[in-house]
Amino acid sequence: MGPSPLARVLELPARHLTFGARAHAIRAGEHSDAVARSLELGNWTCHVCGIRLPGLMEFDGGHGPEPDDIRPICQICHNLDHAVWAAGLGRLVPIWAPDIPQPALTRICWITLALSRLVPGPFPASHQPPDDEEEVSGLADEMDDLDQQMRLRLKAGAESARLVLEMIDARRGCFAERFEATTFEAWLEALLVHLDRRKSIEPPLQAALNSVRTVPALLVFGYARTAPEARISAWESGRFVDVSGHIGRAFVDGLKVKEG
Ligand SMILES: [Zn+2]
Ligand SMILES: [Zn+2]
Repeated sequence: MGPSPLARVLELPARHLTFGARAHAIRAGEHSDAVARSLELGNWTCHVCGIRLPGLMEFDGGHGPEPDDIRPICQICHNLDHAVWAAGLGRLVPIWAPDIPQPALTRICWITLALSRLVPGPFPASHQPPDDEEEVSGLADEMDDLDQQMRLRLKAGAESARLVLEMIDARRGCFAERFEATTFEAWLEALLVHLDRRKSIEPPLQAALNSVRTVPALLVFGYARTAPEARISAWESGRFVDVSGHIGRAFVDGLKVKEG
């Protein structure tokens, strides 16, 4: 298993940790050609976790004035990169998961979010987006476009996704018990203060750090209890726009091209 993404986060400069959606939107405007080109070149596939979500990728790199090495990154991976900013909005929920690499966990989260849009049945009502009937029936058509085998796979996936939600809930409890912290923001702040005082992370803390992963708030709290800016959202025209309604479609589109 590679180095902990959180250990890497702590090495990033403060400026990077607090770089937010508005700052990205400004950079995207400045590098618009390079960003559009790199998303196509990168095949709308997150370069960190490998999920493919056409239309729903953000861009990594290009945080400076020059458009250097821009690559597609998914919002869940991207949040961790700007962890202080994302934690402040309540986007990241910590769990105890030493046995699951963060990129694999992130893929599981995306698939679970997508399945909750495509096959609503097995998911708790809180995970259904409000006022969404039209979209769900539209997605049923999307499902019809897939071959029978793929549809059966997605339905089976939705059944097991309930177990994913339970697993995440149990591991949230483990995290809270071990660290006596429930929010990622509080925990991260304590870590950064510690690091500032000691200038290094001692081995026991390092081991703990290697065991913590994050999942998106939307997956844990559902729509009703997750603020729009903490859902899967984009910064457009000076405000957050909830784009979690596009997850199901983007996921199916990603499958179609891969299958075809
Ligand atoms: Zn990713
Ligand atoms: Zn970024």
